[in-house]
Amino acid sequence: MLWYTETLHPRWRQTLLVKEVLYHSNTGLQEIVVFEHEDWGRVLVLDGALQLTTEDEFVYHEMLAHVPILAHGAARHVCVVGGGDGGTLREVCRHRSVERVTHVEIDPGVIEFCRKYFPELSGGAFDDPRYELVVADGAKYMAGDGPAFDVIIVDSTDPQGPGAVLFTAEFYAACRRRLAPGGILVTQTGNPAIEKQELVDTQRNKRRAGFRDVFFYVCAVPTYIGGFMSLGWATDEPAHRQLDLETLRGRFAETGIQGLRYYTPEIHWASFRPPPHLVALAAKAAETEAD
Ligand code: SAM
Repeated sequence: MLWYTETLHPRWRQTLLVKEVLYHSNTGLQEIVVFEHEDWGRVLVLDGALQLTTEDEFVYHEMLAHVPILAHGAARHVCVVGGGDGGTLREVCRHRSVERVTHVEIDPGVIEFCRKYFPELSGGAFDDPRYELVVADGAKYMAGDGPAFDVIIVDSTDPQGPGAVLFTAEFYAACRRRLAPGGILVTQTGNPAIEKQELVDTQRNKRRAGFRDVFFYVCAVPTYIGGFMSLGWATDEPAHRQLDLETLRGRFAETGIQGLRYYTPEIHWASFRPPPHLVALAAKAAETEAD
């Protein structure tokens, strides 16, 4: 029997029984492992950190894409930073109202092998006529000149290795500069039960970047162990996260999107009302800011 142990957390590990190793390589930038698991389907691991499983990836990808796009209400140009597996792109492309999807990925090797080993993940998004790929470090790309985005989704690895720059105040400030008026930035900000400091730091860095409204929303992805996963939220338009349920229901109905397995307007509304201990944790960022 072969067990794979995720090495993401120093004092807490999850171990999965490997049915079959499908791929093990190094792109030069990151170590990639793909294996089959009896319950979770295909599992993608980058540098020892579980990125997704085909059985529960929908939670994270639906919430990263639909929440900011529906909260914005008129998003035409969306940028996805990271997300080389294509899951977030698949969900973004479900929105007919989105006219252009810019994908900034540092490692084309991830795209290449995900197209081969996880074709259902991107669901054709890489061939969508609205899709354009920019192979670049997201931080460098955002720091440069280029188009303005209505929504920027940072679907990054954790703040280690090449993903570390995507958690800095400089990167968030560059994203803010690249957002059109009323634009929204969402980012993966880890599991607040285990990676407490990550939520505090990302909230503080977004405030430092000048965003008027900084918060987070939650979703529960079984294989991102530790309960709720937090997704960071930053915008200069506070009304985007104060929308009532009727407005969200109306916007969602208008999209005509069918067959989602996690996102609903009700979940959207509730995800911005996390339990008090997490709200208190995030509030630490404001305290640290005042220090
Ligand atoms: N859902 C995942 C998670 O957090 O477990 C993240 C998925 S996705 C595979 C992460 C992607 O971010 C990878 O394809 C990686 O190559 C990309 N990435 C890491 N650092 C980056 C950077 N600085 N700029 C652009 N893409 C980056």
